[in-house]
Amino acid sequence: MKVLVVGGGGREHAIVDALTRSGRIDTIYCAPGNAGIAAQAECVPIRETEVEALRDFALAHNVTLTVVGPEAALAAGIVDCFRAAGLRIFGPTKAAARIESSKEFAKELMAKYGIPTAGFHAFTAYEEARDYVASRPLPAVLKYDGLAAGKGVVIAQTMEEADAALRDMLLDDKFGHGKVVVEDWLEGPEFSFMCFVDRRRVYPMALAQDHKRAYDGDEGPNTGGMGAYSPLPFVTGEDERYALERIMQPVADAMCAEGCPFTGVLYGGLMKTRDGIKVIEFNARFGDPETEVVLPRLKSDIVEIFSAVADGWELEHPLEWHDFSTVGVVLASKGYPGNYAKGAVIEGLDEVDGAVYHMGTASKEGRIVTAGGRVAIVVCAAPTLGEALEKCNREVGKVRCDNLFHRTDIGRKAIK
Ligand code: ATP
Repeated sequence: MKVLVVGGGGREHAIVDALTRSGRIDTIYCAPGNAGIAAQAECVPIRETEVEALRDFALAHNVTLTVVGPEAALAAGIVDCFRAAGLRIFGPTKAAARIESSKEFAKELMAKYGIPTAGFHAFTAYEEARDYVASRPLPAVLKYDGLAAGKGVVIAQTMEEADAALRDMLLDDKFGHGKVVVEDWLEGPEFSFMCFVDRRRVYPMALAQDHKRAYDGDEGPNTGGMGAYSPLPFVTGEDERYALERIMQPVADAMCAEGCPFTGVLYGGLMKTRDGIKVIEFNARFGDPETEVVLPRLKSDIVEIFSAVADGWELEHPLEWHDFSTVGVVLASKGYPGNYAKGAVIEGLDEVDGAVYHMGTASKEGRIVTAGGRVAIVVCAAPTLGEALEKCNREVGKVRCDNLFHRTDIGRKAIK
């Protein structure tokens, strides 16, 4: 079997690694891949949004299954394009991916089908949005409607901040077309619930939590994610059942009822509030860095799962998971998420006792160098979270590079 993985970050490296463990694959291609993925797959220099070029590659190389990592490829319609050419692909259509690409679509769907989430209103007119926000308690949660790579959400503590954000989003047309969803502010720990979904069939994955802030103690600016861990002691079995039965399954059913059935990974960004579990957002793909700590815990064969979902047949058994805990610590370029330099040489990666998934690396004259904001994630497994964190912090110390920083407290709050 020949598989093509689309994307080139840590998430795709973890997917490639899981595919390698399956033993059923002859060739793994990854487009565009990165310097770490190149050790496990054949990297193809096609960008993730060049969907026609990817389709032509898959046709020319007899690829039997394509797995899509990034949202940009989904929003560019890669699944529709591959299916039209008769190719098997794991991921949602462009219409189904609106659950991530349009916040208004997601919120309307949740309102219509009674899925627990923060109350909201959508606005296109600045004055109306401002008057609405002024009539509500602070903080105000303002979300630009559309993919904004994590930059389209403002939690305004004062009316002045809210006003400035609304002007940016609705008057200056800074982001594009100017529509804003204003939400009620919720409070509680957040967690990620990813499920493999094949229309009405929902196969839940192990839970994970991401750490968005740049520095220890959840200080500093928001990032794409500085680390993650799995499982989550603060989410009970009852919480998990509720999230599956009241959120993930009804959303899968709702997407069918709306004529845009979902296939692929449905990612629930959930919050455990005092009033129960609520949806913060949905993504239409694997989370990054959650995937890097969840897939190593998957005992079931991932090729069987991808094939079942892509072909529409039912898995005979629920997914099986290893009991161990995983912690992943991201190594990021100094300065990230602001400006940072590239090209710093990284040594010691192969001395790490654990998995190293590359996020933003390149190879230069036979050496691995930094090539992005988030550079790599070190993932360690151990019987308990505390041991996994301790091991991860120790192993990260083996990586030598003068332009990297990392957090040392991934998962610490969850450790008793
Ligand atoms: P990303 O996909 O990068 O997480 P996004 O742009 O899709 O971001 P959201 O996930 O909807 O945006 O929101 C980003 C963050 O803002 C959330 O992870 C959460 O911490 C906070 N947030 C969003 N909505 C609310 C809310 N209603 N109440 C409190 N906090 C919220």
